[in-house]
Amino acid sequence: MYDVIVIGGSFAGQSAAIQLARACMNVLLIDAGAPRNRFAETSHGFLGQDGKTPNAIMREATAQLRQYPTVQILQNEAQNVVRSGNEFIVHLANGAKYQAKRLILATGVSDTLPDIPGVAERWGKTVLHCPYCHGYEVRNHKLGIIATNPMSVHQATLIPDWGPTTYFTQGMYDPDTEQAILLGKRGVVIERTPVISLIGDAPGLNAVKLADGRLIEVAAVFTIPKTKPASPIAEHLGCLLESGPTGLFVKVDTWGATSVAGVYVAGDAANPMHNATLAAASGVLAGIAAHQSLAKS
Ligand SMILES: Cc1cc2nc3c(=O)[nH]c(=O)nc-3n(C[C@H](O)[C@H](O)[C@H](O)COP(=O)(O)OP(=O)(O)OC[C@H]3O[C@@H](n4cnc5c(N)ncnc54)[C@H](O)[C@@H]3O)c2cc1C
Repeated sequence: MYDVIVIGGSFAGQSAAIQLARACMNVLLIDAGAPRNRFAETSHGFLGQDGKTPNAIMREATAQLRQYPTVQILQNEAQNVVRSGNEFIVHLANGAKYQAKRLILATGVSDTLPDIPGVAERWGKTVLHCPYCHGYEVRNHKLGIIATNPMSVHQATLIPDWGPTTYFTQGMYDPDTEQAILLGKRGVVIERTPVISLIGDAPGLNAVKLADGRLIEVAAVFTIPKTKPASPIAEHLGCLLESGPTGLFVKVDTWGATSVAGVYVAGDAANPMHNATLAAASGVLAGIAAHQSLAKS
């Protein structure tokens, strides 16, 4: 019997686990090893770790977590969680099962990219979602936005700070009059003919091809993927979900507590704002909240 089982061992999960370890709790961390940023060569903006590979950041964090004797780490996939009274039984893909008094889900989200040939193989390299994460590396080049979402216009207003920008509406996400004036002031070119493929030696990018055959030179494009919780466990346990600008996420309070007693969710899975630092911070809160609820039970 563990005090807490943390499912998902990336920014949010390891941040939760280390708080619990430092509170001398018995913690089991289960991680399937597929963090969302695994497609990027480097990670940016995370304090003290800027420019490191996602793998290197996680390796260092895990090595530090392993120093705590009350933490056990398993590389595996949690397939299902069953509630038994006030406790949780976690079933793994290898058939093993483990029991805990509290559960923290830090399983992240999965991305659905626009269905355009050439996008998937460039994801995280020259097809990007977050200018703060990867814009600096493509600054001063010609850049594009492939619209997928009403938020794409907002993204288009920002990207000129990194390079000359074309906004591809995909025939669906035209700016309104006010937005068009702002895009004009920011020097954004609006292109209404849809992008039908990406051109260049992937993961490099030279241009996008439009439906009318024209090629528009760009070195990188930004696009907003649809997201959904990477694991259905929270939903299966009955946690309430909310709708955000890119998809569903788990409804939590400030401390990561869900609508189901004893279940906490941290990281991208519980926040419409997706960022490694925010995920780590919410993991800290969930770890502390789980500990304090045990202390008071
Ligand atoms: C291409 C790309 C690049 C990015 N670059 C940056 C950047 O430079 N800077 C930045 O701040 N943010 C960046 N982000 C956002 C950042 O990756 C996320 O905000 C962050 O990873 C969220 O952390 P998390 O712990 O919530 O989830 P994740 O990092 O996605 O981790 C979830 C973990 O849970 C595991 N898991 C899922 N289901 C199960 C299960 N059933 N059983 C066991 N384990 C499970 C997964 O395998 C994974 O290891 C980037 C995102 C993308 C897509």
